[in-house]
Amino acid sequence: MDDLADLLRHAASTAAGFRAGLSERAVRPDADLAALRGAFGGPLPREGAAPRAVVDELIRAAEPGLTASAGPRFFGFVIGGALPAATAADMLAAGWDQCAFNAVLSPAAAAAEECAGRWLKDLLCIPAAASIGFVTGGQEANTVGLAAARHYVLVEAGWDVERDGLIGAPAVRVVVGEERHATVDRSLRLLGLGTAQVEPVPTDANGAIRVDDLDRVLAHRGGPLIVSLQAGNVNTGACDDLRTACDVVHRHGGWAHVDGAFGLWAAANPATAHLVDGIELADSWSCDGHKWLNVPYDSGFSFCARPDVHVAAVSHAAPYLTGSGGATAVMGDSVLSASRRARGFAVWVALRQLGADGVAALVERCCGLARRFADRLTEGGLEIVNEVVLNQVLVGFEPAVDDAHVDRVVEAVQREGTCWLGATTWRGRRLMRISVSNHATTDTDIDRSAEAIVRVAARA
Ligand SMILES: *Cc1c(COP(=O)(O)O)cnc(C)c1O
Repeated sequence: MDDLADLLRHAASTAAGFRAGLSERAVRPDADLAALRGAFGGPLPREGAAPRAVVDELIRAAEPGLTASAGPRFFGFVIGGALPAATAADMLAAGWDQCAFNAVLSPAAAAAEECAGRWLKDLLCIPAAASIGFVTGGQEANTVGLAAARHYVLVEAGWDVERDGLIGAPAVRVVVGEERHATVDRSLRLLGLGTAQVEPVPTDANGAIRVDDLDRVLAHRGGPLIVSLQAGNVNTGACDDLRTACDVVHRHGGWAHVDGAFGLWAAANPATAHLVDGIELADSWSCDGHKWLNVPYDSGFSFCARPDVHVAAVSHAAPYLTGSGGATAVMGDSVLSASRRARGFAVWVALRQLGADGVAALVERCCGLARRFADRLTEGGLEIVNEVVLNQVLVGFEPAVDDAHVDRVVEAVQREGTCWLGATTWRGRRLMRISVSNHATTDTDIDRSAEAIVRVAARA
């Protein structure tokens, strides 16, 4: 029983059993963290255990603490549920145990990333000449994109930041929309561009940057300039006017980065593509696979319009690493890790399974379901606070209620178990926040969830 094939079959059928039950089990887990700590045990035993026994031990310990976040009624954060074929591809990536550092170590991983990268650029309307790194997610993609930006604007100012660092460097201006994602700040911090230097630009009612204000802010001072724009605000789904904003940034000699963790996918659907019109004009882009493309964690993409800048900013040349004595594709030169999982397999499979039409349909369906959610909740007497342009919905309660009440309702909805969603603070107001990003969510899931929310809210 302990051979690899049996273990993998066992793991696969356990995972498949879990996934098959997702749509009917309570979305929140049964066990709390304290119970799970107990189940996972105390100090590491001196003696090892048989492989099958220990895998079973893991399954027993973990299952009560698994969230049905891959299921069709999980609307918290921005969470997709991995497509079956993409899940299988990721299990193969683990089984094949390839190191996707470069094409010498794994030509298959290199070719899969190359092909999937071409498909992604085509779908997302990113120039064909752009480079791509398959990263862990939006956070890493923002870091890589902003590192490329830092490299470029400082080279333009006659400074080699990779060699000389930031001490004594010309001051870099960093301008962002006030509704940027928090990961942008962390990326900037890690790049030595401290958050106190960041200049926020006001946004409109739905959270998109005000381009006239951007123009005004940029006009008052010159020098190396990085602007981080956004496609898909994590609360409202709002997308910046990328065409005008990129034009403004370039007129002022700056680098335009676009954080499009989920919003970039609007480009892949003809009915939403206008939201990211002008996307091709940016200099770097970040996007997630594990959100709207519904591939397993962790999977994101860092694109850069100037491949030489991309590599110059993040590569780590070391002569022993190619082992081929010549030029080879080095995927590790476009990301912030060296040894890495072959995450391109799952992306390739997801794109191939869906096809361009399937990706468009996935995006369109989630947007339609978000609008349906908003309609059902409005009928139930709740207030929709944002303009539902994409897959995000903000739900408000009577203006009289305090923040704590909103949190109590959200917790009660989570406890009730039909669906799961979180709370957020938007423009000083505590709200319920919904994201529809799963390929398997149906009209019935939306109606059931809206009914549960309205019922729980009325009782609270
Ligand atoms: C989720 C998200 C991120 C961070 O992406 P991760 O994949 O969680 O690292 C960045 N920006 C936006 C707009 C997001 O929605």
